[in-house]
Amino acid sequence: MQKLTGKCLCEAIAYEITGKLGPIVNCHCSMCRRWHGAAFRTRCTVESKNFKWLKGEEHLSKYHSSKNTVKTFCKICGSNLISMYDDRPDYIGLPIGGLEQDPGSRPIAHIFVGSKSPWYEITDNLPQYEELPNDGIESL
Ligand SMILES: [Zn+2]
Ligand SMILES: [Zn+2]
Repeated sequence: MQKLTGKCLCEAIAYEITGKLGPIVNCHCSMCRRWHGAAFRTRCTVESKNFKWLKGEEHLSKYHSSKNTVKTFCKICGSNLISMYDDRPDYIGLPIGGLEQDPGSRPIAHIFVGSKSPWYEITDNLPQYEELPNDGIESL
C-alpha cells in the first residue's frame, strides 16, 4: 500500500498517509489564497482513518475558519497543515505541498476560479469551476 509522509517547515510536526488520495485540485478561493499567501492551495481529500500524526501534534494550532472548517498549522513555523470538518469527521483536507514523495496522481481541476487572484493566469487546460463542481470534488 502506498505510504506518504509530510512535514512542516521546522520539522517539529510530521504525518503519514496510507491508502488512496482523493482527487487533487487547485483551490483559488480567497481564504486558501490568504491562508497560504499564494495563488492557490493544491489539496486533496484523505479519509481520516488513513491519516496520522507521526510526531509533534502538541505543536499544532487550530483555527476555526468557517462554520464547519478547522484549519491547522504549526505554531512554531506557521506551516499550513490539514483542514478538518465538523460536519464530515471522516475526511480531512491535505495540502500536498508538504509531501516528501510523489503521490503519483496530479491536479485534475481548478476550483473557485471565480475568486481567483487577478495577477495569476491559469495556463494549463484543466477544467475550471467557478466554485465547487455541482456534485462536489469527490465526483471529479
Ligand atoms: Zn513547524
Ligand atoms: Zn479554497
